[in-house]
Parts: sequence; C-alpha cells; structure tokens
Amino acid sequence: MQDRPQARLQQAAPTLSVVVPVYDEGEGLLAFHARLSRVMHDIGESWEVVYVNDGSRDSSLAVLEGLRADDPACAIVNLSRNFGKEIAMTAGLDHARGAAVVIIDADLQDPPEVIPDLVAAWREGWDMVYAQRRVREGESWAKRATADAFYRLMQRIGRVRLPRNTGDFRLMSRRVVDALLRLREQHRFMKGLFAWVGFPSIAVAYDRAPRYAGRTSFNYWKLWNFALEGITSFTVMPLKVATYLGLVTALFAVVFGGQIVLRTLLFGNPVPGYPSLMAVVLFLGGAQLVTLGIVGEYLGRVFNETKGRPLYLVERFAPSRPLPPPRASFDVERHAHVQQ
Ligand code: UDP
Ligand code: MG
Repeated sequence: MQDRPQARLQQAAPTLSVVVPVYDEGEGLLAFHARLSRVMHDIGESWEVVYVNDGSRDSSLAVLEGLRADDPACAIVNLSRNFGKEIAMTAGLDHARGAAVVIIDADLQDPPEVIPDLVAAWREGWDMVYAQRRVREGESWAKRATADAFYRLMQRIGRVRLPRNTGDFRLMSRRVVDALLRLREQHRFMKGLFAWVGFPSIAVAYDRAPRYAGRTSFNYWKLWNFALEGITSFTVMPLKVATYLGLVTALFAVVFGGQIVLRTLLFGNPVPGYPSLMAVVLFLGGAQLVTLGIVGEYLGRVFNETKGRPLYLVERFAPSRPLPPPRASFDVERHAHVQQ
C-alpha cells in the first residue's frame, strides 16, 4: 500500500490537510469520513485527510484501508502501538503536507461543518483558528466543572494563556505547524504547546455534539494526569509552593518552639506536650511528603526527556494520492460492508 517515493515527490502538496487521531473508532469512521469529505468537497480546495491509527484494537485499521482504497484523499499513518492522542496528533502533523492543517476528533464531537468557517478565518490572514465550544452536550456536570477549574488554574499559574472551552479542534497555517513541530518534548501537553507558539489567533464558536458512536477513552484518572501534565510542563510554580510551604512551617515551628520554651521557663511544664508533639510531627511529615512528591513529578519528567526516545514509531505510512478530476463526495452505502 506504500506509494513509491518518486511518485510522492512529484505530487503537489494539497492546500488543506485534515489530521484525525483514531483510537477504536471503527463504528463511527464511515459516518465521519462521509461528513468530512462532503464538507471538504464543498470548500473546493485540494485536500487530504491524514488518519493516524493510534494502535486501535478494533476494526479501525481495516475500515481506514477500505476508505483509502476508494478515496485518494486518504492517508494513513499506522503507529506501532497506542501512544495516546497527543502523540497521535503530532504524528499526523508530521505527515500532513497542506498549507493549512486542521486537527479534528474522529468521534464527530467536533462537527466537520465548522471547517469552512476555520478556513475562512485563515483566508483572512489568521494563523491559528481555534474552534471554541458554546455548550457541552452529553458531558457530565462533574466533567464540565473539573475542566472549568483546570482552565482557571492554568490561567492563573501558567505562563501561557489557554483559551477557555477550547480543545484540539483547530486550523493552523503552515508556519504554525512548522513551529509546533520543532517542539519535540515527550510530555506533550498540546493545548499548552498551541498557546506557546503564539502567532495571530482567533476563535470561531461552535456547539460540541455528543459522541457519535463508541465510548470516550477518557476517565477521571486520565483527566487528572492530563491536568498534572499541563501544570508540570508549563510552570514550576508547584516547586515554589513547596518552598514557601516549607518556609512557613519552619517559621511557625520557631515561634511555637520559642513560646513553649518561654512558658516552661516561666510556669514550669505541668502537662507533657504529647498532643502538640504529635500535631507538629504529623504536619511536618505531611508537608515533606507533599514536597518530595512535587519534586518527584518534575524529576520524572526530566528523566523521560533525557532518554531522548523518538516520540512514536510508525508501523506503516500510506500517503494520499494525486487527486483525479472532481468526483462525487464519498458514499457511505458502498462502504457499509467493511464494518462488521
Ligand atoms: N484518541 C487517540 N488515542 C488515544 C485516545 C483517543 O488517538 O489513546 C483519539 C480518539 O480516537 C478521538 C480523539 O482522540 O478521535 C478524542 O478521544 P475521545 O473522544 O476519547 O476524548 P474526549 O472527546 O472524551 O476528550
Ligand atoms: Mg470525544
């Protein structure tokens, strides 16, 4: 399925590339591709879609191969295993050749119908056009609340300003993509990296839909780790918190100790200070453990970066092919057989 390199070189880069990370999306991919290709045809520019199969355990890869056999706009990057969405997106950006690149989820939570608006803003000269959601249908109250708290925290302590209610769904000009691809850190908090590169940015509002099929692969433990990643890769503030926590505790201990010594000298010590002793020991123990934990979080990240491993491994790359003359948009019915 690999095209010859010469053939690839001769082929002109498309104007628009769409990068889609795919992890266990077999059920919804046909519907996704149908909607995407309809929208892209209506825009009327040359385009390609780079599907990154992130080690799916279901029929996703077979479905993608079926799509590519029929639609020359499809490219497939098959990663050697599951690397996570952040790295899958990076792999897609590495392989996308368009003058502008759109990143979109495969689960139809990001409606492809917004893409023309993104492209319009890009035509007006904006380098980064991010889709900002108006409402979050089908997401629990708790998820919304935690997401909200996280954005607020990042805005307060991070050096980068993350736009609120914004996911990875966005369009980037070639120079933004190239800038982004120069950041090769292992711990990729993409929302932070998008904000870090800067360039003229603008929001386009849209309504986020519930998942079309399948289940979200995110859970609270993953979200918590995601937040930790965001904080530790963009600010050393928690390290400072540890320092100040230590300082305040030490100061408190000096005052408290002085007061005890003074009281003992003046009035003697009728009751042994077991409760205060325990309180102080426990508190200090806790403060030390927290501080060590914070240092450990950063140290672990330094460790991971120093190994200098590649971000991902590609099992197979099948590029998009030169487009034949205009044709009708993708037909779902003809592909229904690929799904079991
Ligand atoms: N995804 C991925 N690798 C993963 C997990 C998810 O490529 O390890 C893809 C998934 O196929 C989808 C997108 O990332 O296209 C968003 O995933 P999901 O819908 O599970 O996340 P949520 O919308 O709940 O944030
Ligand atoms: Mg989703």
